[in-house]
Amino acid sequence: MTPQPNPQAGAAVKAADRAHVFHSWSAQELIDPLAVAGAEGSYFWDYEGKRYLDFSSGLVYTNIGYQHPKVVAAIQEQASRMTTFAPAFAVEARSEAARLIAERTPGDLDKIFFTNAGADAVEHAVRMARLHTGRPKVLSAYRSYHGGTQQAVNLTGDPRRWASDSGTAGVVHFWAPFLYRSRFYAETEEQECARALEHLETTIAFEGPGTVAAIILETIPGTAGIMMPPAGYLAGVREICDKYGIVFVLDEVMAGFGRTGTWFAADLYDVVPDLMTFAKGVNSGYVPLGGVAISGEIAATFAERPYPGGLTYSGHPLACAAAVATINVMAEEGVVEHAARLGADVVEPALRELARRHPSVGDVRGTGMFWALELVRNRETGEPLVPYNATGQAATPMAAFAASAKAHGLWPFVNMNRTHVVPPCNISEAELKEGLAALDTALSVADEYT
Ligand code: PMP
Repeated sequence: MTPQPNPQAGAAVKAADRAHVFHSWSAQELIDPLAVAGAEGSYFWDYEGKRYLDFSSGLVYTNIGYQHPKVVAAIQEQASRMTTFAPAFAVEARSEAARLIAERTPGDLDKIFFTNAGADAVEHAVRMARLHTGRPKVLSAYRSYHGGTQQAVNLTGDPRRWASDSGTAGVVHFWAPFLYRSRFYAETEEQECARALEHLETTIAFEGPGTVAAIILETIPGTAGIMMPPAGYLAGVREICDKYGIVFVLDEVMAGFGRTGTWFAADLYDVVPDLMTFAKGVNSGYVPLGGVAISGEIAATFAERPYPGGLTYSGHPLACAAAVATINVMAEEGVVEHAARLGADVVEPALRELARRHPSVGDVRGTGMFWALELVRNRETGEPLVPYNATGQAATPMAAFAASAKAHGLWPFVNMNRTHVVPPCNISEAELKEGLAALDTALSVADEYT
């Protein structure tokens, strides 16, 4: 794994990118994407030969790192045997992937509808909920992310929704619990939980219980800040859903498949939703794949009445072969247990130590390989290091933090005033410690703005 420098090739890749690739979520002329030459395990490298330890897992999806040889071999084998086949047929890779996923999802979420990614999984989950209940509205949380397609972005509760939100489109937002920045003036987790549940039930009362098809929540909101729900919250939402006949959708696109040190984040809270979305870690993102795991009751709605939705590439054999191999690797190599152990024994103590030494660290939270540091100007007031949705000059402190991390060989996940520690779930202890040391150095840069 010695990167061979080849700056000329890198320059050509970059020039073609700048000329023709239109990038997501970006002002096209203001970005400077790194040209990546290769990747393996927890690292990737550029054409200059500079290597980065990936503490972002791509976009929090390479749960078993890059180029795992068993998954690469499974994709090659599937490609040589049957690269593709239409969704109406029973195909070995597809049925085996569905079986392995259903075996691991909580409760009776035993039917799998495959999609191409997370956003379309969310689209289909809310469509199923509306068809199942015959009701129009969906409740989702502020401080959430559910995807970039139209309905999924309507459901999203972060500023990326604003530009594309042409109205409520049947979506009502509410506040989910988050004690560090409590909307409920709560001082304890118990208060936060009770008040958030009361707020949700009041929202339903004012919307009209008979109009609400679904409540969708990320089990642990990821992009918005890895905000661990207080004990009892998800069980409380489950009860509210049962009381009013509302479908409970958990979005596990980011939190699922080992990220939390359990197969699914729902396992941490012992909660069983009616529908659960997944993507990303299901096959470490080697080939695009997502899906909805469906309860027996909702599957029964479509037993004799057709489900009016589908996708050309639903359950694509290449993607499913990658999922089968990934899930088998995770099971055989104990990746889920490894993430739980290193999260508890290495990441948590190290981050709490960093918080003691760095005045810019306002809050530490997470589990497994799913951690967030919230950076602040002032620990007493909690004033964020950069304002909400900061761009340009206002975003400088976070940009300076990220630049320092990169200079020290660490590729960080940065969103607003947070950095998330979300490396591959099978990262080694030595790699983890190397990354945490670089993080320590970069936090000193953030401290200069406190
Ligand atoms: N839901 C959640 C919780 C996510 O984190 C994401 C992606 N970050 C999505 C949905 C959308 O997934 P995709 O980008 O694969 O469409």
